[in-house]
Amino acid sequence: MTVDAAWRFARQRIARLDARLLLEQVMVCTHADLIAHPTRMLCADQFARLDALVSRRAEGEPLAYLLGSAEFYGLEFAVTPAVLIPRPETELLVDLAIERLQSSSCARILDLGTGSGVLAVTLARQCRGASVTAVDLSSAALAVASTNAARHAVEVSFLLGHWYAPLGDNRFDLIVANPPYVAHADPHLQHNGLPFEPRMALTDGVVGGDGLACLRAIIGGAGARLRPGGWLLVEHGYDQAAAVRQMLAQQGLLELDSWCDLAGIERVSGGRLD
Ligand code: GLN
Repeated sequence: MTVDAAWRFARQRIARLDARLLLEQVMVCTHADLIAHPTRMLCADQFARLDALVSRRAEGEPLAYLLGSAEFYGLEFAVTPAVLIPRPETELLVDLAIERLQSSSCARILDLGTGSGVLAVTLARQCRGASVTAVDLSSAALAVASTNAARHAVEVSFLLGHWYAPLGDNRFDLIVANPPYVAHADPHLQHNGLPFEPRMALTDGVVGGDGLACLRAIIGGAGARLRPGGWLLVEHGYDQAAAVRQMLAQQGLLELDSWCDLAGIERVSGGRLD
């Protein structure tokens, strides 16, 4: 089969851009190659792989898992079904973190529930001189995050464990987290590819709960882990900003605020230790 015919075959079953990207993946070529060589032949194995990928996409599996990569903050990250696919709204957390670290040249940064490592790796790249620690409960996620740190040539110390548990007595100038925060009964968990993502990265799993269990653990432990003047910044759900600010206030954090993502939804909240 020619490239042109394969492209048409894929386009009939899935969205145009997805079809193109999967064909490029199978052919190990660029968009320009596809256009320049429409009569190039796919071997049987390449077509079988394209057919399988197109079927998986048609079943709703996210494109990022099929390609094995996703873009975040202008960088390409490896992703597998062991990690959440990075979302554009999480870039807000990076911007806010960078703003707060501008004056410190050797900041200590902690990323809790790092997943694919997008926050830890992006901050390590953006804040040269900072030392970055990243924690996750999933060893499969840490393997992906380590790959991403190596890919982007940054050093991050990765620790396996539950939130603050593996940290010893270290304190930090900045703690960031994009934890699981979708309530267990939220119908969104059944849609938009979410069933393919790791449940433990999306929801705290508390039956009948509000989705805030992980944020409670992270915010509750932050006072003892921040250095004086240090910031905690957390991502949360579309309707959780007020509850999160209240938890931040209970910990005595100052300069409490919430910031909106590009959709105008309060998506990140944070505060500073005195
Ligand atoms: N923002 C993600 C979503 O709604 C959830 C990410 C998370 O739980 N940290 O799909």
